[in-house]
Amino acid sequence: MTDAAATPPTDFVRDRVRADQQSGKVKHVVTRFPPEPNGYLHVGHAKAICTSFGIAAEFGGKCNLRMDDTNPEAEDQEYVDAIQEDVRWLGFQWDGLYYAADYFDQLYRWAEQLVQQGDAYVDEQDAETMAKNRGTVTSSGTASPFRNRSPADNLLLLRRMKNGEFQDGTMVLRAKIDLAHNNLNLRDPVMYRIRHLPHQRAGASWCIYPMYDWAHGQSDSIEGITHSLCTLEFEHHRPLYDWFCDKLAIYKPQQIEFARLNVEYLLTSKRKLLQLVEGGHVDGWDDPRMPTLRGMRRRGFPPEALVAFCKHVGLAKFNSTHEYALLDHYVRDYLNKTSLRRMAVLDPLKLVIENWPSGQVEMCEATNNPEDASAGTRLVPFTGELWIEREDFQENPPKDFFRLSPGREVRLRSGFFVTCTGIDKAADGTITAVRCTYDPATRGGNAPDGRKVKATIHWVSTAHALDAEVHVLDHLFTVPDPQGHEGKDFLDFLSPKSRVVRRGKLEPSLKDAAAGQRFQFERLAYFVCDAKTSTKGAPVFLRTTTLKDSYQKTQKKAGG
Ligand code: ATP
Ligand code: MG
Repeated sequence: MTDAAATPPTDFVRDRVRADQQSGKVKHVVTRFPPEPNGYLHVGHAKAICTSFGIAAEFGGKCNLRMDDTNPEAEDQEYVDAIQEDVRWLGFQWDGLYYAADYFDQLYRWAEQLVQQGDAYVDEQDAETMAKNRGTVTSSGTASPFRNRSPADNLLLLRRMKNGEFQDGTMVLRAKIDLAHNNLNLRDPVMYRIRHLPHQRAGASWCIYPMYDWAHGQSDSIEGITHSLCTLEFEHHRPLYDWFCDKLAIYKPQQIEFARLNVEYLLTSKRKLLQLVEGGHVDGWDDPRMPTLRGMRRRGFPPEALVAFCKHVGLAKFNSTHEYALLDHYVRDYLNKTSLRRMAVLDPLKLVIENWPSGQVEMCEATNNPEDASAGTRLVPFTGELWIEREDFQENPPKDFFRLSPGREVRLRSGFFVTCTGIDKAADGTITAVRCTYDPATRGGNAPDGRKVKATIHWVSTAHALDAEVHVLDHLFTVPDPQGHEGKDFLDFLSPKSRVVRRGKLEPSLKDAAAGQRFQFERLAYFVCDAKTSTKGAPVFLRTTTLKDSYQKTQKKAGG
């Protein structure tokens, strides 16, 4: 699978771009990524980014970042800044940074042109009537009584609209196309609406704002976009995209649609993500359980893994939902190769070594990453009193339990062999400590006589342990498709176990973990040092993902 990710992708979009270049129709490929700055980018946007930036790079072209900021209601400079940061984090750099709002003057001039050509008119019907008069898929629309006003009258009204003479909602500018068209988007779509609200970039200059369809294709045209790549829901808007460019007789880019990215357990709707934030169900857009790029970054997802995942998913013409395990596979694959191994105990049980020389501290050499020799080794203090994981001990073990139990010998990783000799219990029966003896000849974890043990467990010296907060993170939802249940809201499926906060006993070197540094806590999971809540000497660790790869298993089941 990793090999496949290294080969250049082919798909129906790339085939078209290639054909356009070969036929000479397009010399220099220009694409764009056009987010609306009304929220933070999420995993779905990662796919759109990889597609537009990736294709431009592969074909020696350019890719613009354009803020599709035509709607003053929900947009904010905060999002504009975050979008740029997130695109860079994913590893991409735009050629030009543009704003649809900077095209407002040009768009308005073009609107006057359409009015003068008799291709647009001011409609004074109220929104409800207009919606009703649009008709349905089976019935034609009804013409507005204002549809046949003269171009001169329309022009006057449009100018008065622009000058702020009318209230919000009293009239709109509509394209004059075809009220019987079987594509409802062409039944005289709205181009401008009145909204007396300042714009985050354009300031107070405007009180009419262009609708998406009116702004988008024209913005593409202005920037000389050759291939305007977007998701499938815009397929039925393409005839309108083309109509506007044709009527204005301006350069016409070609819009090509591909399937949206959907991933199990992850919501890819800004509106729903906003609901999670505003409802206090998460700690903000950068909550590490969020499918936003900042959430994923904070959780320790390597951007390289996201890019590899998007590449693997590829471009399709039909929407589908991908297994979370596939994304997880790429994250784990990257982390396995790159993250430092450390020992940490999350549910501590004391292990007392009875024959350990009192007060002695042995520095044990431990491998930093068995996958990467250049990562080197470190020294971990070993003493006569250690923390081990409670679940690594059983007083009455079942047949298939090979870890520590009375009379059993196991290896303490990079340390020594120990044999359990007894147990201390509290009055209520809980085990408070396990007693054992060690074999000094097994230093480093191997017996000179060649005897084997069936298990290796991790440990942390009690005298040296760093007490730290560790967040065991899991899916935000209990079901893979929180939106797909009739009569239920996605909020009904919030998982109570998506974050379990524990205090762990960590290997002392973790005290100096850098913000954002990724680790494998051996035998437990991958963790990242939280860049947001960690303080100097007091790191907080977040679980990125577990060690077990369930993707390969499913693949095997599927015969893949
Ligand atoms: P949302 O529904 O979450 O608000 P959006 O499509 O309205 O998403 P935009 O900011 O307008 O968000 O999206 C910018 C670009 O990202 C668009 O070209 C859009 O097609 C693409 N995009 C958005 N969501 C996805 C997704 N899930 N998969 C692939 N591309 C996406
Ligand atoms: Mg959008």
